[in-house]
Amino acid sequence: MKAVDAADIRSSFVNASQGETERLPLPGLHEVMWDHREYLGWRDPQAHQRGYVVFWKDDRPVGIVLREADSALRSGIPAMCSLCRITQPSDQVSLFSAPRAGQAGRDGNTIGTYICSDLACSHLIRILPPASDMQPSPAEVLEGRIAGLLSRIDAFSSDVMRSA
Ligand SMILES: [Zn+2]
Repeated sequence: MKAVDAADIRSSFVNASQGETERLPLPGLHEVMWDHREYLGWRDPQAHQRGYVVFWKDDRPVGIVLREADSALRSGIPAMCSLCRITQPSDQVSLFSAPRAGQAGRDGNTIGTYICSDLACSHLIRILPPASDMQPSPAEVLEGRIAGLLSRIDAFSSDVMRSA
């Protein structure tokens, strides 16, 4: 992704009040390897149920505030992140809810989705299977995963921003 700075991030959130976006903690940005990310995602160290994702939707940074559900997934079964579609042990995938943008969100209307608990899909999709004759090359696998992740986060943000 193209880099975002602190000002981009604070002005990007579509489903949080101005007060919330002014207070929210930013991640360390100077060490981020932007070329290896499709979105910037981080958890709130103070309010750990909260998470934040920021990515470029067309030419605009779009941020979404997430809240992890209280109920954990049943342990011992695999779970799949709806953004990167990688299957992991269920304690590494969480049900997050995102308030809808605008009045709908202020009225308590949310969208729930399963996402990697650490919001690090970009890291996960780069762990590639070994090359084999039966599968596309690792480079092709990664290309497909990147395209899928970008289109699914874009669709998720469109859902959050849809006003009705
Ligand atoms: Zn994921």
